[in-house]
Amino acid sequence: MLVLKFGGTSVGSVENFRKVADIVRDTEGEKIVVLSAMSGVTNTLVQIASLLEANRPENALTLIDELNQKYLDVARELLESDEAYYKAQIVLKKHHQTLISVSSEEFNSDQEKIVLAQGELVSTNLFQLYLEDIKEDSVLLSALDFMSIDKHGEPKTEVIRERLGKILSNYQSSIYITQGFICRNANLHIDNLKRGGSDYSASLIGAAVRAEQIQIWTDIDGMHNNDPRFVDSTFSVSEMSFAEAAELAYFGAKILHPQSIIPAQENNIPVLLLNTFKPESKGTLIHNKASVRKIRAIAAKDNITAIKIKSYRMLMAYGFLKKVFEVFEAHKTSIDMITTSEVAVSLTIDNTEKLEAITNDLQGFGNIEVDTDLSIICIAGDIAQNKKGITSAIFEGLKDVPIRMISYGGSNYNLSFLVKTSDKIAVLNLLNESLFPELSTAPV
Ligand code: ADP
Ligand code: ASP
Ligand code: MG
Repeated sequence: MLVLKFGGTSVGSVENFRKVADIVRDTEGEKIVVLSAMSGVTNTLVQIASLLEANRPENALTLIDELNQKYLDVARELLESDEAYYKAQIVLKKHHQTLISVSSEEFNSDQEKIVLAQGELVSTNLFQLYLEDIKEDSVLLSALDFMSIDKHGEPKTEVIRERLGKILSNYQSSIYITQGFICRNANLHIDNLKRGGSDYSASLIGAAVRAEQIQIWTDIDGMHNNDPRFVDSTFSVSEMSFAEAAELAYFGAKILHPQSIIPAQENNIPVLLLNTFKPESKGTLIHNKASVRKIRAIAAKDNITAIKIKSYRMLMAYGFLKKVFEVFEAHKTSIDMITTSEVAVSLTIDNTEKLEAITNDLQGFGNIEVDTDLSIICIAGDIAQNKKGITSAIFEGLKDVPIRMISYGGSNYNLSFLVKTSDKIAVLNLLNESLFPELSTAPV
């Protein structure tokens, strides 16, 4: 079994739906096709939800109608037979009605999740109808029947495996289609795996069926050595280890959802990143036999807040850090980076929902300073501490950039440091020049 996940751009237009169908047809064997919402749709659904939350149902209804019209236009152009178009109209009407009825009810977070789920539900339905229209046999599975998370938002991997296995045993097809992103939570209500979560769905499904390979088809030819949104001369990296890919995804390489590598890594399933618009390009293979390369790639994660706790009570004391960590644990906020000196500790977080409560609780420990608008720059590669010259190679080119924190030695695959977000683009470009001087001849 293979898992093929296609992102928003890949199913963003009639032409692209056709491209995806070609790729699926050209791929031999049994496969589960995981689709995102059409590009831009989840953003529109987020907007609809915000308007409903702000008690502006008329404005929400305008967007709901526009979205419905967009879907109808796509369906009309995509589906040749009247029968398929008729079926699409019925499906679209149902989703339109769902959004309208949510708009007339009192809005809460359950409603928000129902709204967000509509994007993937529609794209998979349209794709299945298209395959039917071109006489390609397929089965549409609802992710809501097997994709399950617990009360902490963590996937219930055993439940997913068992349910999906049972569902698949009812059919015999070579193409199964299902939604990325959406799931059911501990209350069995509709929920999601957070923005960009379709990659995570694909990886969880791959792990559940013990797939041979998980393919992530997107709009770029694999993982690049640096963020192509901010650096011009980047190149596709042909292979990397799970550890490197996990660090890069976690620290901002948007091509992969932060948690998506873990299920593949745990089950040793290779992940291949491919380009829907250039299916012949090799892409990036993420597997456990990747060759070793000192510096593999660079990524940046924004919206970081640093908290510094300065206290002379730390001097020679034990148990201080435990108490600090307990505050973050109590507020369910995870810490990304940490550095300490004898009288101060600096931590970073990316979720600031509980920042005020956290700083209030920390007041008793000493003097608290909060710094916002920061970015973590992550350098992934085989950066073991026993290798010489790596840190100087990294920092030599950054002489003029103020660096707020450095984290090195935590893992063999990552060196990360904190800068002001306003310096991020310059830092990514400077590092590209100093760490990949061979850019004209892309390395393996
Ligand atoms: P999809 O909709 O297919 O999930 P995304 O937009 O989530 O696609 O991810 C693909 C995008 O990730 C690319 O278009 C690119 O701009 C961005 N990106 C950021 N960092 C990297 C990187 N290191 N390598 C490749 N793409 C990256
Ligand atoms: N449609 C969702 C989003 O835009 C999930 C995904 O595309 O991965 O975030
Ligand atoms: Mg994505």
